[in-house]
Amino acid sequence: MIPGGVNSPSRSYKAVGGGAPRFFVRGEGAYLYDVDGRRYIDYLAAFGPLILGHAHPALVRAIRQAAEEGTLFGTPTPYEVEFAERLRAAIPELERVRLTNSGTEAVMTAVRLARAYTGRSKIIKFAGAYHGHFDLVLVAAGSGPATLGVPDAAGVPAAVARDVVTVPYNDSEALALAVERFGSELAAIVVEPIVGNFGIVPPEPAFLEAIHRLARECGALVVYDEVITAFRFRYGSVMPMLGTRADLIALGKIIGGGLPIGAYGGRAEIMALVAPEGPVYQAGTMAGNPASVRAGLALLEALQAPGLYDGLEAKARALADGLLALSDRYGIPLQINRVGGAFSTHFTDRPVRTYADAEAADGALYAAFFRGMLRRGVLLPPSKFEAWFVMVPHSDADVAETLAAAEATFREM
Ligand code: PMP
Repeated sequence: MIPGGVNSPSRSYKAVGGGAPRFFVRGEGAYLYDVDGRRYIDYLAAFGPLILGHAHPALVRAIRQAAEEGTLFGTPTPYEVEFAERLRAAIPELERVRLTNSGTEAVMTAVRLARAYTGRSKIIKFAGAYHGHFDLVLVAAGSGPATLGVPDAAGVPAAVARDVVTVPYNDSEALALAVERFGSELAAIVVEPIVGNFGIVPPEPAFLEAIHRLARECGALVVYDEVITAFRFRYGSVMPMLGTRADLIALGKIIGGGLPIGAYGGRAEIMALVAPEGPVYQAGTMAGNPASVRAGLALLEALQAPGLYDGLEAKARALADGLLALSDRYGIPLQINRVGGAFSTHFTDRPVRTYADAEAADGALYAAFFRGMLRRGVLLPPSKFEAWFVMVPHSDADVAETLAAAEATFREM
């Protein structure tokens, strides 16, 4: 009935040996329960949004209130204004902000805005980076680094792909070459400031510096896709961690408290181009809906609990250190890239700093690990490219249970 049995391809078990994915009916705190009532410690966190865990009481209250008072008005509401103000208080670089329903829409519109503002059409994106499912970002590298892209999905026109130059992440030289060739046609460099989509991969300082310097020199905008990173590593954007400032920022995932949402914003003079103030059209029947926004408000409140991010980091560090010690003991090649409360597990001897490194990691070993953990009641992302996300309700006992499951799994690998 449903293609592949899933409403988003990343949910399928194709990348971890195939078969039907497990079906879940209920979540509570750090746990998910499957259709047979079995409990799993959840590190998928719905691919990132669920930082507070499942059915957090404050979010349940906010969503219940929205359900009782109406979930959709098709008019402005005070909730969306308050939410926009709270976002700007957390991320001052969001001088103005517009809400959407998904991360895809947020990045898509940020790119449209960059094209309108610069009057140019090309973008640079980085190999293996995921920015949603609109045509322009479903593009792979052409015949070499710093060449025009080719469609990465059927149905994406070759003419669209030719507007994209794909460059390896953390490769300042390839980036410089791409800007040298295409700089005068370049509207934006679109980048996850810390990669979350081929593992967790931080930018090398020189690379990040090159992105901003080269964009400035050629007159392109820098668009940060913070759909995963914002509010994941600290309360707000990762920009203060990195010491950078993007022109436009796309948000999603966490900020809706588990309900559908996205947002984009940034420099006021660029945002003034958005309709109805300006000529850049973007709309949404569901955009800024009271349910998502009220869940988002409750979430932002809860995320300001003192020590919350330190707690996530401590648990993630304990997991990462424990996994590395076990992999050592059982002779399994494992690289863990961790930033704060998120990390990735790549089965390889080589450090992972580009998509090619992540691709070279052993998919069969990851599949065996995923399945062994699933059998032992630990839910991981069903792809070697995706990250583990630690959530607030994960307890020390959950960490210990996870490491025990990992030891048993490594032993049979
Ligand atoms: N950008 C990034 C970095 C993402 O990880 C994702 C989703 N995985 C998106 C954009 C698209 O967001 P959505 O699925 O909400 O459309």
